[in-house]
Amino acid sequence: MVGNRFGVAIIGGGPAGLAAALSASEEGASVLLIDSAARLGGILKQCVQDDFGIVRYEKQLTGPEYAFKDIEALEQTNTIVMLQTTVTKIVSVTNGYQMTIINSHGVLVVEAGTIIIATGCKERTARDANIQGSKPSGVMTAGTAQYYINIMGQLPMSRVIMLGSCDIGMTVAYRLSIEGAKVLGAYEPGSVPRGSLRNVSKYLYDPDIPIHFNHTVTRTFGTARLHSVELARVDKVQKLIKGTENMVNCDGLIVSAGLIPENSLVRTLNVPMDALTNGPKCDQNYMTLVDGIFCCGNALHIYDMVDYISLSGELAGKAAARYSHRERRLIEISKSKEVLTVVPQYLDADTLHSDTIINFRINNTRENVKVRLLVDGSEKFSETYDIIRSTEVKCISVDFPGSIAPDSIVELRLE
Ligand SMILES: Cc1cc2nc3c(=O)[nH]c(=O)nc-3n(C[C@H](O)[C@H](O)[C@H](O)COP(=O)(O)OP(=O)(O)OC[C@H]3O[C@@H](n4cnc5c(N)ncnc54)[C@H](O)[C@@H]3O)c2cc1C
Repeated sequence: MVGNRFGVAIIGGGPAGLAAALSASEEGASVLLIDSAARLGGILKQCVQDDFGIVRYEKQLTGPEYAFKDIEALEQTNTIVMLQTTVTKIVSVTNGYQMTIINSHGVLVVEAGTIIIATGCKERTARDANIQGSKPSGVMTAGTAQYYINIMGQLPMSRVIMLGSCDIGMTVAYRLSIEGAKVLGAYEPGSVPRGSLRNVSKYLYDPDIPIHFNHTVTRTFGTARLHSVELARVDKVQKLIKGTENMVNCDGLIVSAGLIPENSLVRTLNVPMDALTNGPKCDQNYMTLVDGIFCCGNALHIYDMVDYISLSGELAGKAAARYSHRERRLIEISKSKEVLTVVPQYLDADTLHSDTIINFRINNTRENVKVRLLVDGSEKFSETYDIIRSTEVKCISVDFPGSIAPDSIVELRLE
């Protein structure tokens, strides 16, 4: 290994970590990029659909194509990449942090001035979705099925029921059907699809996969292998309607119930968390409330476009490389009741600029809606949208003056 002290250490080599490594090294920092997988690219390696790159490259690319652009660019930098290496612990030391890492050389220790956590997310499972019954083979998350088909080249099931309608599940239902499986239907407990309407049309309607709203899977049956599931109707608040249960024969159940940020490392550092995003609270530079610890990509909050994940990495990398300790003057962004989540939750009053990125989600789908960002009542951003869906993450860019008073009131409002 080349020394054990770096300016910036990045944990996770998916699109967020790759973009962070590129921008931190462009800023002149010595960069270490660590990933537990054998290859860079994160989850994108298993995403063969051409859903990536529209915003960043104005092109539709597959996941591997999208990731390869950054991997190729990274080869031109001095970034040290450690693969098949897992970070198990981070502790604070004088002038930075010390990480414990494990790989084929054993247990090692490296230090860095700043750390960027870009560890991605995990999927909600059948247990999270409250499905009762034994756990026979054939019950799996959408991402696991995606791995079987796209990486291992295997078809893990032939008669399939899908619970939920998140974007990943829809792409997997489509892949299963073009590879010869019969996808009997997607059963969504809510009244609207959880993923984008574009994906419903492209991945469910086109291959003729029916979607049933206000339905759920209640039980699985089978010992070694799944042979059937019980479906039932649910009401508006997703409570089971007794007497509507119905058995369906199938050998595969795909659970497509959403994603949660992977934040086990962040939690060990006692970083204050946002209960609504399940990620750490941060400022507009993607620095958490613990100085020198940054977070980006799906480890921070669940994005719906990888292009914006890369943007978060790019900004985190730049800020981490420029970091030097100073007292931050943080202003919490307050939100009107229709705004469910906002990331960043805080603004660092002294480093605002003309292109400050703010992401938010709203609680219910709304039409003809005006979004405003106010500082002490004065408007800094305003835009009217025909529709904003509760399932989408909106990304706005706000033109701030260089700094604002630390006792300013900043509000994100919907009208
Ligand atoms: C199973 C699954 C399937 C998905 N499929 C799709 C899809 O089809 N389309 C889509 O748009 N989005 C999909 N996603 C969402 C996915 O999170 C984003 O597309 C995107 O890859 C997130 O980028 P990221 O850089 O934040 O994280 P990731 O791409 O997940 O990269 C995180 C990296 O961190 C590494 N890592 C984690 N913990 C450690 C540690 N302690 N030490 C070292 N390395 C670590 C992991 O090995 C991984 O390579 C999927 C997510 C999952 C979990």
